Amino acid sequence: MRRLRLADIERLRRTRGRTVLLYLTDRCPVGCAHCSVAALPDGPRVTDHGLLAEIVAAIGAEPGIEAVAISGGEPFAERRGLVLAVDALAEAGKDVVLFSSGYWASGTRCPGWVTRVLERSSTVILSTDGFHRAAIDRRRFSRAVAHAARARCHVILQLLDEPGAPEFARGVLRDVLGDDWARRAEFTLITPLRAGRGSGVFAIGRHHDVAELGTCPLTASPTIRYDGVVTGCCNESVITGGGPRGLRRRVAGAADVRAALARFRDDPLLRAVGSVPPDSLVRLPVFAGLARSRYPDICGLCWRMHEAVEDDGDGARLLSALMSQAGRT
Ligand code: SF4
Ligand code: SF4
Repeated sequence: MRRLRLADIERLRRTRGRTVLLYLTDRCPVGCAHCSVAALPDGPRVTDHGLLAEIVAAIGAEPGIEAVAISGGEPFAERRGLVLAVDALAEAGKDVVLFSSGYWASGTRCPGWVTRVLERSSTVILSTDGFHRAAIDRRRFSRAVAHAARARCHVILQLLDEPGAPEFARGVLRDVLGDDWARRAEFTLITPLRAGRGSGVFAIGRHHDVAELGTCPLTASPTIRYDGVVTGCCNESVITGGGPRGLRRRVAGAADVRAALARFRDDPLLRAVGSVPPDSLVRLPVFAGLARSRYPDICGLCWRMHEAVEDDGDGARLLSALMSQAGRT
């Protein structure tokens, strides 16, 4: 099994058909005030394990998929589903990347089932910040790092870009893994997300002219929810039910999952948003009227483009033809 580093994960995530995100649960015992998917201790969770087994089997059967990220909510709060998913994906030869807060590292001994899940996974991305630390202190977080490293996972700490974050990450990694921690671990800083409960916590940023927006790096990164909803990207608001209909499909079994993944892989609008500069796209007749507005980010424009294509019966065909002409299919 490969130990995927940040750069590997980013490269795969941007390559169409190479990765998928399995969103395993809306439940999380931590309940942070800024949670971008609004996960809660009693949030919805897997009820149809048969459907989850079909979803995982479908991912395993996709020959192009190399890596599967598993997130939520807190995947380790969904023990039965997590064990099922990691076992099946590891058997299918996929590299598993786990996202977690590390809440499960409550004791010095790692629970046996957690160790087994870690041993079958490539990489663990452990998130922390000032909100998490109210429930998961440095000792517990450090134990999660130690348990993951002992299971031979590559460890990536993911921290909100706030004062003291790099020093905290280096301090934890040095304490747990020693001075040569960089051989087995990394850390990355992320910006706050105004989604879920985060929309009430973080200030609204500046809106941008279309010319200031870039292409979307996430259009090759579809998400499959535990309850059978497949989305064309891994935008948190879309995963949790927001945004246009065109970014979402409901599936009832393995064949549907594979069809939905193929559909999103070939979707001309997703391909356009991922590869054509937005100020060129808004010159297409189907997007007339979108050029003069300002948007919080590329997602704001992307949602309006999806609505425009849905409203215009011929919009998708026109876009598809233009993308073929431009050699971007
Ligand atoms: S931000 Fe992470 S740890 Fe906090 S509630 Fe959401 S899923 Fe749980
Ligand atoms: S720009 Fe569109 S495809 Fe990309 S993340 Fe945002 S909503 Fe998803």
